[in-house]
Amino acid sequence: MPRPDFPRTIVEFQQRVPDDHACTEYLFQSRWPEGFVCPRCGRGQAWPVAKRRVVWECAACHRQTSVTAGTVLHKTHTPLHVWFWAAYLMSTPTPGVSALQLQRQLGLSRYETAWTMLHKLRRAMVNPEREHLTEEVEVDECFVGGHEAGLRGGRARGEKALVAVGVEVRGAGSGRVRMTVIDDASAVTLTAFVRKNVTAGAIVHTDGWNSYRSLSTLGYDHHPRNQSAARRRGEDPDEILPRVHRTISNLKSWLQGTHRGVSGEHLQVYLDEYTFRFGRRRTPMAAFQTLLGLQSQQQPTTYRQIVATGSGAQSRPDLTG
Ligand SMILES: [Zn+2]
Repeated sequence: MPRPDFPRTIVEFQQRVPDDHACTEYLFQSRWPEGFVCPRCGRGQAWPVAKRRVVWECAACHRQTSVTAGTVLHKTHTPLHVWFWAAYLMSTPTPGVSALQLQRQLGLSRYETAWTMLHKLRRAMVNPEREHLTEEVEVDECFVGGHEAGLRGGRARGEKALVAVGVEVRGAGSGRVRMTVIDDASAVTLTAFVRKNVTAGAIVHTDGWNSYRSLSTLGYDHHPRNQSAARRRGEDPDEILPRVHRTISNLKSWLQGTHRGVSGEHLQVYLDEYTFRFGRRRTPMAAFQTLLGLQSQQQPTTYRQIVATGSGAQSRPDLTG
C-alpha cells in the first residue's frame, strides 16, 4: 500500500476523507505504508481491537498500537475528520484560517475547540533542529500588530510589537525565512538575532542602522545599505532590501486579512505559522503530514499548556521554515 498523496482540491479532499473511518485508514497507510509493523517485536500480523480500527493488536506479542500514537490526534475528543479539515485548511499556502472561520466552517459548537485545534496544529510546526540561513541574507526589523496611530515613526515603540526578519537571497527570489519577536532594536538584540539565525561567514545585507555595525566583527560579510545614499542616487529606499520588505509586507497583509490583527502574547506563534507555510508553499503534502504529526514525533500540547505559556518565547524550540 503506497503512502497516500495530497488531495489537490477541496472536493478531492472531501471524497478522500469523508468520515472518521477514512481518516483512520489514511493514518494507517501513512504510519505503515508497507503494512503493519509492530513497534515492539517488528512482526507484521495484527488485528483491529475494535470496529473503529484505531487500535491494532500484534498477533505475536499482543502489544496494542494506536494509529494516532505520537500524533496531535491522539486521545482527542474531536472527530478525526474535523482535525483533517483543520490541518488541510492550514497547510494550503494562503490565506489560512482563523479560529472563528474554522469554528463556522466546521460547525463546531465551541470557539475554544477551534482555537485549541489551531494552536495544537501550530505547535506541530515547531522543529527542534532548525537550520541557519546561509550564503546571502537580508535582515531588517518591523513593527507588527496593534492599531495605534501617530507613532513617532522610525524605531519608536507603541502597542505594536517589534519583529526581526531574515530572508535568504536566492537569485531574484527568496529562500527560507526567520522571524522573531524582539524587545528592542539595540545592537545586542539584533546581533543576537543574526547569530541565532544566520550562519557565520554569510553575506548579510541590512540598512544603515547603527545596531548592525558590529556584524562585520562577528564574522559576517556585512553589507549595510544606506537609505539616504540610495535616495540621493534616485533609487527607491524601500528597494534596497527588496526580499525582506516584500516578506514583511506579505506578513502584515496575512495577519490583517486572515487573523484581523494578533495579540502580542501569541504573535510569535503566528510568525512561526507564517514561516512554516512560506517554507512549504510548494510542498503542501509535507505540511499537512507534519501538522498532523505523521512525520515528527512532537509531544502533543494541551489547551492548558498553550494558555499557560502564551507564545512560549523563552522555552519554545525553534521552527523550521
Ligand atoms: Zn509485536
